[in-house]
Amino acid sequence: MPDTSYTYINVAVGLPVNDPFTYKIRREKYYSTLIGRRVLISFRNRALIGYVVEDKIKEPVTDTTKIKEISTVIDDQPILPSALLQLTKWVSDYYMCSWGEAIQSALPQYIKTKKKSLGAITIRNSKRKKELEIEPLKEISLNAEQKRSLESIEEALERKGKKQFLLFGITSSGKTEVYIRSIKKALSLGKSAICLFPEIALTKHLQNYFLYHFKDTLAIVHSRLTQQERFIVWREIFEGKKKVVIGPRSALFAPVEKLGLIIIDEEHENTYKQQEVPRYHTRTVAQKRAEGEGALIVYGGATPSLETMRKVKKGDIELLALKKRVGDRPLPIVKIIDMKNEVRKGKIMLVSQYLKGEIENALKGRDGILLFLNRRGFATHITCLACGSVVECQRCKVALTYHQAERSLVCHYCDGRKEPPDHCPACSSSRLKYGGVGTERIESHVARLFPQARIERFDTDRVRKKGEHERILDAFKRGKIDILIGTQMITKGFDFPHVTLVGVINADTVLSLPDFRSTERTFQLLMQVAGRAGRGEREGKVVIQTFSPNHYAIRTAAQHDYESFYNEEIKRRQELNYPPFSDLINIIIRSKDEKQVRSFSVRVKELLEPIVKKWELELMGPAPLPFYHLRGYFRWHIMMKGTLSLAMITEIRSLFQNIKKKKNCQYAFDVEPVNIL
Ligand code: ADP
Ligand code: ZN
Ligand code: ZN
Repeated sequence: MPDTSYTYINVAVGLPVNDPFTYKIRREKYYSTLIGRRVLISFRNRALIGYVVEDKIKEPVTDTTKIKEISTVIDDQPILPSALLQLTKWVSDYYMCSWGEAIQSALPQYIKTKKKSLGAITIRNSKRKKELEIEPLKEISLNAEQKRSLESIEEALERKGKKQFLLFGITSSGKTEVYIRSIKKALSLGKSAICLFPEIALTKHLQNYFLYHFKDTLAIVHSRLTQQERFIVWREIFEGKKKVVIGPRSALFAPVEKLGLIIIDEEHENTYKQQEVPRYHTRTVAQKRAEGEGALIVYGGATPSLETMRKVKKGDIELLALKKRVGDRPLPIVKIIDMKNEVRKGKIMLVSQYLKGEIENALKGRDGILLFLNRRGFATHITCLACGSVVECQRCKVALTYHQAERSLVCHYCDGRKEPPDHCPACSSSRLKYGGVGTERIESHVARLFPQARIERFDTDRVRKKGEHERILDAFKRGKIDILIGTQMITKGFDFPHVTLVGVINADTVLSLPDFRSTERTFQLLMQVAGRAGRGEREGKVVIQTFSPNHYAIRTAAQHDYESFYNEEIKRRQELNYPPFSDLINIIIRSKDEKQVRSFSVRVKELLEPIVKKWELELMGPAPLPFYHLRGYFRWHIMMKGTLSLAMITEIRSLFQNIKKKKNCQYAFDVEPVNIL
């Protein structure tokens, strides 16, 4: 006899399992729909928060007395709009994680710990910083290119089309101004908007720009908010108080209603790929969300990813070009220095004669100088001159970097630290040589070359202390620092009009990484670095030091020539059938047991063969990963190339569900990986 006093619902949980699970609830407790609400369940003998994803499901055929009852319904309303719930389902299918894991990534962390309804969660003596004071901005009249771009976007918004645009323009071409006005149009049509940036915590001027235009209706999400602060912002969006959201990739899941527009600035950036479960790519999920809610997407950037530009060429994305810098400022002149000619007495020069001369000139003119090197620390490796071995991290088997400021050896993969040895750990010789150049070493070298200059370093080590970041940038802006030496951090969005000289100490650091995207990344990085020079009245100059002066990534970047770079690179991608001509799935298998991981990987490959054949995939591997021994694990991977589909991914997933897990092996799926390290 069916038990009519109960109704059945499906619940997702935030664990790596095959959810959802069926629970029951007494009919008298049942009020309207439960979908999208949190419930308290008993799961594997633990009390757990679950998320109702389906309700009023058919009575299960199994013995229903065995089905557990839900203990509490936490929420008095759904906390996930149905469009977002559907989106998380898709994320879980496509990126191979549980539905609950995908749901949790769409909600603020804080909710996971509170077993109370939203209204009942009070933040005691919330230390919310006082509201930012908004600095007034000048009224801007758009130039012709901006006007044309805006008109296209406005028109598409009015037509309620599900269209995609690429706003292709170098830094300072006025993209943000177009974003702002597009969002205003969306608001005027009763729609909301989400605008994603790689990083906004540090860009006060950007936050001000948006605050000035959107005031109380703007929500700012950034990495420096505490969990409570994030929750407060999320709840305000949820309650409809905020209609415009700016933030990093997680803001894509902001629970705004009537979404009209998604903007993704600098869409090529790696930060748009989440490196933990769910390993989603923001571009792909944004497309899905836009499709589901009838929204428009605008991608923006100076160096679009090959994926996005190919879609432009195929006509799937409409191109809107901003070719001029605001105020018609010329692009900086770029000089490439072949470092092979800068070897003196067998010793490589860190700063070429040419760059040295340019630094002297800029110092005389009291101009700002940026020196860029993509490596932290003082020496990037310590080699024993007696036996040739390199001092490595025990857990990761990669060379340790010597950091002078803290007098320790640091592993850049697991952040482990140890004291620099006096003797070689392998042969006890004391003849240790500190080699390789990091930002610290450049700092002390440049200080010796220019004893009169005021020099500061700007990398994650240097700005670890709270407030340092802002202090250094502010001092540089006010001309209290002459030379700023930094890593990638100095390339991001900063606008220093007084910088006339940018020096790239070694353009080859990224080029040599074992990744098919390293060329593209080098090009993007150089373009971005070069964009820092000459943003003010005076002309800018960029000096690129390299051992591969004829490499097309370096040559085309020096000529600010995206088109030529694209044409060259896209040919290579096609030859090797790499993205954008295919999609990738990377399966990472790791174990502390070196033998097991190898044999398990080989077996997985064999089991994948029927799927590979059926879907015409190309399988590479199994092979040890470039960083084979990381954080104590031995790591292999299997990469598959082809055209992705949900059906195919589902097959791979169910295959793994049937593979008997080897005790000591763990695996992870990375769909659409952005780096293979
Ligand atoms: P991007 O986002 O392309 O780097 P922004 O939109 O931030 O460029 O514009 C750079 C600077 O130029 C900003 O200070 C902005 O206020 C200003 N600006 C933008 N458009 C115009 C314009 N049409 N006329 C004058 N100044 C402009
Ligand atoms: Zn030795
Ligand atoms: Zn390590």
